[in-house]
Amino acid sequence: MLDRFALVSNSDCHSFWPWRIGREANVLELKRKSYREVIDAICSKNPVRFRFTIETDPAYGKYHWTGHRKCNVSLSPQQAEKFGNICPVCRKKLTKGVEHRVEELSDRPLDYKSIERPGFIRLLPLSEIIAAVLGDISPSAQAVWKIYNLLVGRFGDEYTVLMDTPKEALAEVANAAIADAVIKVRKGAVRVVPGYDGVYGKLDLIETGYREEPRHGRVQQLNLEDFW
Ligand SMILES: [Zn+2]
Repeated sequence: MLDRFALVSNSDCHSFWPWRIGREANVLELKRKSYREVIDAICSKNPVRFRFTIETDPAYGKYHWTGHRKCNVSLSPQQAEKFGNICPVCRKKLTKGVEHRVEELSDRPLDYKSIERPGFIRLLPLSEIIAAVLGDISPSAQAVWKIYNLLVGRFGDEYTVLMDTPKEALAEVANAAIADAVIKVRKGAVRVVPGYDGVYGKLDLIETGYREEPRHGRVQQLNLEDFW
């Protein structure tokens, strides 16, 4: 249904917290930094020019799975269907999650992947990763931003920390546990407990199986003024 469109990934700004903006990006190979070049690269849908998108794990969203917050019930689309979309605790209709709705609209299996189209990688905001390592504290805590600023100050920007900086260098500036968590997120070896009915998803640092190594070169983050 969406095949004729180029799928871009941009953060919306419905929340002003720094860890909720700039979480998504499009990685383009540009000959020149110009508006026309950006548009042409996107419209080409060619992975050589429009290399990939960066996504926050969708499970992190507040309405990813189907459930009831008050009843502490969170279900995958398949589980919810088994219950006839009725809450097993209060017997009322469940709040349908995004994954459930996507399943309803989809005409392909979950793991379908087209090789001719730009791929994607999944990352999580650095401040969320640090907060999870420090013991599930708020990403707004000063202890989190102290480490965040040290890392970004040393390596230049958040994407460089998340995607390119070697583990040893991260450990030197922050500590071994944070370095380890950043590498696990980079390799897709962590689980996000899906959000549901207004509850945000949560990073679970218990290691899962490593995904295939994402294929990308260095990602250079540009500013708007680079185009002037
Ligand atoms: Zn309920």
